[in-house]
Amino acid sequence: MTPSQTPVRYDISRSDLVALLDGEPRYRVDQVWEGLHQRGLDPAEMTDLPKALRAQLEDLLAPGLALVAESESDAGGTVKSLWALSGGSRVETVLMRYRDRVTVCISSQAGCGMGCVFCATGQAGLTRQLTTGEIVEQVIRARRRAEPRRLGNIVFMGMGEPLANYAAVWAAVERLHDDVGISARRITVSTVGLVPGIRRLAAERLPVNLAVSLHAANDELRDSLVPVNRRYPLAELAAACRDYHEATGRRLSFEWAMIARVNDRPSDAAELASIAKPLHAHVNLIPLNPTPGYATSGTPAAGVRAFQERLAGLGVNATVRDNRGTDIDAACGQLAARSIAPPADAGTGAAADPALPADPAAGRRSADLLLR
Ligand code: SAH
Ligand code: SF4
Repeated sequence: MTPSQTPVRYDISRSDLVALLDGEPRYRVDQVWEGLHQRGLDPAEMTDLPKALRAQLEDLLAPGLALVAESESDAGGTVKSLWALSGGSRVETVLMRYRDRVTVCISSQAGCGMGCVFCATGQAGLTRQLTTGEIVEQVIRARRRAEPRRLGNIVFMGMGEPLANYAAVWAAVERLHDDVGISARRITVSTVGLVPGIRRLAAERLPVNLAVSLHAANDELRDSLVPVNRRYPLAELAAACRDYHEATGRRLSFEWAMIARVNDRPSDAAELASIAKPLHAHVNLIPLNPTPGYATSGTPAAGVRAFQERLAGLGVNATVRDNRGTDIDAACGQLAARSIAPPADAGTGAAADPALPADPAAGRRSADLLLR
């Protein structure tokens, strides 16, 4: 949180709440904390509290997210929520209801400074970091939206690079595990490959799943698609992945957006297998979703299947990600670049720097700044 930001509802810690409820009977702390985290209630809905206290808490614990718009696709199975944050920046959350599970895809930053060329969020640049409370609240809201189904899985695959907002993201993971009651095994952090962040994650007490967005398995190609590769090349990234797997025992996965004639050739499959196989990593193939700033097309479905089979022949398990929400721009990498920055009259919050994504060094610079 920047000093100018007022803490929002889920930014407060339990000891902040103790201080806030000074003078109230002690059991109120548990009542309110559980109401917020386990039941996902607004203070106004906490009918076991005196009315005056409810009103007071509504004022003191303002929500961090204001719903701007919601769109549904896949017959209501996919719900994209667009939220306004304080200062006017916007982020999105995508709720995906499958037959056997419900997963929410959450954002960790408004925009992203990593500059991956094919990603709508990256094309917009970084506007601002999310606070812990803003991250946790996305899950709380999604859990209620999913009812009567039970929200089971959380993936940090919405807007932003989670390991470039490490402290807030990790505090959110701990809160989700300790207070909201979601097992670390059901939380996946997806990263573009910030090696120091992966190493830090490996030393944490909770073993979350790690997904690494690889997209290319030779440095020359990866440098051109994912600029941060120049800072953390493949050999270092693979070593960090191996250490993560050994330290946590969690399954590793690699994400691979399938781009026609760029990374879908037999040689790409062979290079990918040479990294994934020794790590026993699972590969998720994502048909490339169209974005305004990248003209190359995605690999056609038959090509994706052929790539998958080639990987299988090389001893690597790969799944083709179903393209949920493409029609509402809710699919991977499509999260609305247009709506990230605050409106011009919103005052606070820096506007996205349109020069960032075009500059191949942008990712490195941002990573340098944010990982210090
Ligand atoms: N910053 C993190 C997490 C958010 S991106 C990361 O990069 O891992 C979530 C996933 O969507 C990543 O695997 C990302 O590479 C992928 N992605 C980005 N743009 C895409 C696009 N246009 N089509 C398909 N997948 C895309
Ligand atoms: Fe950022 Fe991930 Fe998009 Fe790359 S793919 S620009 S790291 S959100």
